[in-house]
Amino acid sequence: MERTITSRLALQRQSHLYRSRRIRQSSQDTTVTIAGKSYVSFCSNDYLGLANHPALIRALHLGAEQYGVGSGASHLVSGHCAVHHELEEALAAFTQRRKALLFSSGYMANLGVISALASPGNHIHEDRLNHASLIDAGLLSRARLHRYPHGDIQALERKLGKSPQHQQLIISDGVFSMDGDIAPVPELSMLAKSKDALLMIDDAHGLGVIGPEGRGTLGYYDLGESDVPVLMGTLGKAFGTFGAFVAGSVELIEYLIQFARTYIYTTALPPAIAQASLAALSLIQGESERRDRLQSLCRRFIHGARQLGLPLGNHLTGQGNDPITPIIPLILGDNRRTLTISDALNEKGLLITAIRPPTVPVGTARLRITLCANHTEAQVDHLLETLSTLL
Ligand SMILES: *Cc1c(COP(=O)(O)O)cnc(C)c1O
Repeated sequence: MERTITSRLALQRQSHLYRSRRIRQSSQDTTVTIAGKSYVSFCSNDYLGLANHPALIRALHLGAEQYGVGSGASHLVSGHCAVHHELEEALAAFTQRRKALLFSSGYMANLGVISALASPGNHIHEDRLNHASLIDAGLLSRARLHRYPHGDIQALERKLGKSPQHQQLIISDGVFSMDGDIAPVPELSMLAKSKDALLMIDDAHGLGVIGPEGRGTLGYYDLGESDVPVLMGTLGKAFGTFGAFVAGSVELIEYLIQFARTYIYTTALPPAIAQASLAALSLIQGESERRDRLQSLCRRFIHGARQLGLPLGNHLTGQGNDPITPIIPLILGDNRRTLTISDALNEKGLLITAIRPPTVPVGTARLRITLCANHTEAQVDHLLETLSTLL
């Protein structure tokens, strides 16, 4: 065992895949401090800049004063507080679903939902670029897991046709976490309906960011509960807090309360976090300026990057009225080169991590640039100038 550990670590280094942590000393913001040095950060998922917003901090304080810090038990024992319940109702209304159920994290929500819904003998079809938690959930369920080529409806249709007698689950990211493109959900929904399959969308990166009132990918496409019966969202990204939820029919949520093991056997989220999430939801729904500003910064960056000939992913049109998501990868391919460029950017005070396999497919290592509504135009321009000298 020890030998395996040593040799796998060595191999990880040799392949330029070794991962290490930076220790941040400041709050989450567009400017952060690491080891006493200040950086402009282009790698958080805090797209709207809410993680450090005074209204959220105040709500967290108030929540802690009312409920204390820990929830003390799982939701089904004694941990389910009034503010959790209020947040669930608000999230259901926001996503235009009948009910919502809070989970402690997105990873746990995906494991819990998928392993509750699918069992051996069922088939799960996932987009090849789905988030790791969705893939792991498929494996945990012990159903047959199929992965269709990214966004390829025809390929999915062929695979669904082969096993019509079995119960089938189709799962896709709404906004893809490492590429920033939006899944063809209307087509997925039509296909699911025609094949009597159940569709689940993980909208971790769409909610709060795109669609009317920030209602995410399904808001953008105007798809309701009958089109997408299982919606998963997270609170640690645009919401700026922590946790996740699943939204859907009354029956779906009741089913998950009975059978989702990652819901049942874990401590309820701290209630003060739920209080802060309610504050975030109110800002997301009530103030569209952050989304507008984010769109404008993204268009500015993409326009500049295109002029400079930077290796943008080819799904980004940046034209017309299609929303642009704040995940903008520059795909470099080679692990080592991506690391070197990331280090050079750090050297110049710009924080962008090198994303390498297995997070992304082999040969597609990238700089995953994310923008935040709180970035300034000058910061975006400076990033473009610096990239143009390095790439
Ligand atoms: C981040 C993410 C998750 C996991 O959510 P956490 O709350 O961070 O555990 C799940 N799915 C997608 C698509 C994500 O990007």
